[in-house]
Amino acid sequence: MPDFLAKAALMPQGWAEDVLIKVDEAGWIVDVRPEQSATSGTILDGPVLPGMPNLHSHAFQYAMAGLAEHSEDPANSFWNWRKTMYGFLDTLGPEELERIATCLYTVMLKAGYTQVAEFHYLHHRPDGSPHEDPAHLSRCMIRAAKAAGIGITLLPVLYAHGGFGGQAPESGQRRFINTPEQIVDMVTTLDRDYKADPQVRIGLALHSLRATTPEMIAEVVKAVRSINPQMPIHIHAAEQIQEVEDCKAWSGQRPVEWLLENNDVDPHWCLIHATHMTEEETRALALSGAVAGLCPTTEANLGDGLFNLPSYLRHGGRFGIGSDSHISVNMVEELRWLEYGQRLNRRQRLIARMGLEQHIGDFLYRAGLEGGAQALGTKTGKIAAGHRADFIVLDKENPSIKGRSYDLVLDTMVFATNSNPVRDVYVGGRAVVKNFENLRDESA
Ligand SMILES: [Zn+2]
Repeated sequence: MPDFLAKAALMPQGWAEDVLIKVDEAGWIVDVRPEQSATSGTILDGPVLPGMPNLHSHAFQYAMAGLAEHSEDPANSFWNWRKTMYGFLDTLGPEELERIATCLYTVMLKAGYTQVAEFHYLHHRPDGSPHEDPAHLSRCMIRAAKAAGIGITLLPVLYAHGGFGGQAPESGQRRFINTPEQIVDMVTTLDRDYKADPQVRIGLALHSLRATTPEMIAEVVKAVRSINPQMPIHIHAAEQIQEVEDCKAWSGQRPVEWLLENNDVDPHWCLIHATHMTEEETRALALSGAVAGLCPTTEANLGDGLFNLPSYLRHGGRFGIGSDSHISVNMVEELRWLEYGQRLNRRQRLIARMGLEQHIGDFLYRAGLEGGAQALGTKTGKIAAGHRADFIVLDKENPSIKGRSYDLVLDTMVFATNSNPVRDVYVGGRAVVKNFENLRDESA
């Protein structure tokens, strides 16, 4: 693998110039040295950042992005959108699914996402019958990621019920349904099959409290913890008010409150959305060390509500970003709207930061890197030895970025770029995007 020389790179301790990055054949950074000169390797001519992990994706939803923006029903909500989504799954086959995912992952790479956590609940055929290999569609997603060149954490999802308290699933959910044993088998098999591949990791997802039962959660968590005590565990939680009300009716507790009291939620957990929390839940989630998986453009599109970011950050809470329904595949937009939602709500500025001296763009980007890597169970998000060689090169000719001092590049990128600032992308040390074009482009 040739060396890289970055004219300027965002290191854990700040910006450095003339950074020599050595990468081994398997795509790991083995040495990083600032202030170096000649190299026979690749010159990275533009501000270099660690690539952003995308911690929440339902790839198939990319094909319906923009198709649920009209309805004759005046009571339009998340639940109508979900109906449209179920209808969309009536005919979607494995080949189409793999094509959609390959195209999506290609678009993600061009936007600067270098890793994705695929929260994968589409397991069966359109009629609900299982594939001969129950992990067939999971393997399609992994193949798509490898074809596009993005790193993937595949999270097979346990989805067993249609509502709290073990309600029977409805017909629109027939492609999602598995028993805990079937999901544990799938996780075990995939984990074994992809163990040697540094671009692939396997985790577990529980769809939500409404789609599982306490006994099932205990069973699958125990089983995957015996495979790998650090395996990522993701769950949708408290996205919608209706879900909070239903959870209270079922258990007397709110979803995040219930999860934290009844499970050993640790830094390997990721709670997706966690939109509706009390102050106490916000504090407790932050102190658990788990990651909040925030998806601002999807949460806006679905009318979910706003995450209590200031309080969560005050308690040291960790977060990462995801494009979820893929109504937008743009890390800049996720970070920008994470802050803008808070500004609009509080009629204040500069909300997402930990110290008064901190730049917001810098804080948001670094926090997204760290929380995302934690949620995906990857050694990414840092240009440092022992981490994956996942990095992006910004376009130094971008009209907003051109001429900016390095310490202002992230603020400018997050709040002021209106065209894609990501020119080149490397995953595991291999170029996947050059000059804004994916080298294995499937999106055309
Ligand atoms: Zn989701």
